[in-house]
Amino acid sequence: MDKFDNYIGGQWVAADKYVENINPSDLSDVIGLYASASKEQAHEAIDAAEKASEVWGASTPQDRFNALDKIATEIFERAAELGELLAREEGKTQPEATGEVMRAGQIFKFFAGEALRLTGELVDSVRPEVDVEITREPVGVIGLITPWNFPIAIPAWKIAPAIAYGNSVVIKPAELVSGSAWALTEIISRAGLPDGTVNLVMGSGRVVGEEIVASEKVGAVSFTGSVGTGEMIRNKVVARGGKIQLEMGGKNPLVVLDDADLDTAVNCAVQGAFYSTGQRCTASSRIIVTEGIYDRFIEKISAETEALRVGDARDANTQIGPVVDEAQFNIDMNYVEIALKEGAKLVCGGTKADCGKEGYYMKPALFIDTTPEMTINKEEVFGPVASVIKVKDYEEALKVANDTEFGLSSGICTKSLKYSRDFKRRAKAGMVMVNLPTAGVDYHVPFGGRKGSSYGNREQGSYAKEFYTIVKTSYIWAQ
Ligand code: ADP
Repeated sequence: MDKFDNYIGGQWVAADKYVENINPSDLSDVIGLYASASKEQAHEAIDAAEKASEVWGASTPQDRFNALDKIATEIFERAAELGELLAREEGKTQPEATGEVMRAGQIFKFFAGEALRLTGELVDSVRPEVDVEITREPVGVIGLITPWNFPIAIPAWKIAPAIAYGNSVVIKPAELVSGSAWALTEIISRAGLPDGTVNLVMGSGRVVGEEIVASEKVGAVSFTGSVGTGEMIRNKVVARGGKIQLEMGGKNPLVVLDDADLDTAVNCAVQGAFYSTGQRCTASSRIIVTEGIYDRFIEKISAETEALRVGDARDANTQIGPVVDEAQFNIDMNYVEIALKEGAKLVCGGTKADCGKEGYYMKPALFIDTTPEMTINKEEVFGPVASVIKVKDYEEALKVANDTEFGLSSGICTKSLKYSRDFKRRAKAGMVMVNLPTAGVDYHVPFGGRKGSSYGNREQGSYAKEFYTIVKTSYIWAQ
């Protein structure tokens, strides 16, 4: 069995402990043994990053462009192979996985360009003969803690801006998907960065994650994951005066109005709710439908959900891959039970799917006749489970859409300019989608939410520099 080590200070470093990376489509398939770092190794990685930040922080925009561009080019060249690895370890379908790898490449290309575009400002002082310069500097060492649902895109959209703006990085990926993070790091290791600029410490949140969070040497922490962990990390980082950025959950609404194009609305709902096995923080889990289109919508979405083909992530016929692991599978099934107990009507799915091999296969669950108060409409499931809420009109739909602790992505299907305009303005979410699924975003614009979904500066696009740089204001008297 192949063993995969941590990457610290420009060296591949063995660990005392290794964990199996198991394919959720086929539990007999072990992808490899991945290092589980100790606290000491986490410290070594932070120290290496601190050393490298002096060197890399002084690099030129051309050095930064060259490194990021080289990483991007190799990601593109190896997209099919990396996509297969991603599908095998995470369970999203091969086209979804290859698409995610391409996205990682696009992000590195984008931030290669951003490295060249970083500018400051020159301002006249209020005092005579004095100029004021406003410049941006790297933060120093950035800690990155990433989840399992986008094993290469999320590490990419945190590492790329971090190094484009001259920082060094310690990344701790989710244990379930160390393979993609390791492959990305291996590509990065040959990009000409100074030793220690990017360090990979695989392992548990409790051991490695907590060291990153606690270290005074880590100037900023960017985290994507669950609400509970995110809030705990925020409190610790803020208490020690560090910068923090969190992307957490969603309970994203998709509003369907009477005048919506039925095919578009059903397509947005099915795509947004169930693709990537519903394991996206932008998934549409609450489908809010006005009464004039309700019956036609239910008939069509039920048929399309029932027809979804669940199977092995790497089988070309599969539309919905397995749930990522046993714990998540049990969480999904538990929410199905709670919804049934609370009176929601299950029209299809919600059971284990038999796919001929041992894996965490679940038939997408669609509930109707649900009310906003039900648990299923309050808590994030993070699986192929969606519920429909019937409402009278647009105003009620908007109210229900905003009635959540989260605020990541909010969608509406309508042909009305009046309602779509109003929704764009009044939706309490970081992202609004009109006639598009709540999931599926561009890579060159900001990503993030409000309320319980996010905290701190936006990720991605040129807005990323707010988090990955610090501003300096210099005064110069021409004496
Ligand atoms: P999920 O439930 O989706 O796995 P988590 O929030 O538990 O979400 O995990 C997201 C990331 O946070 C993972 O890389 C995980 O290892 C890490 N993590 C979990 N617990 C901690 C912790 N106490 N401190 C730092 N990182 C943690």
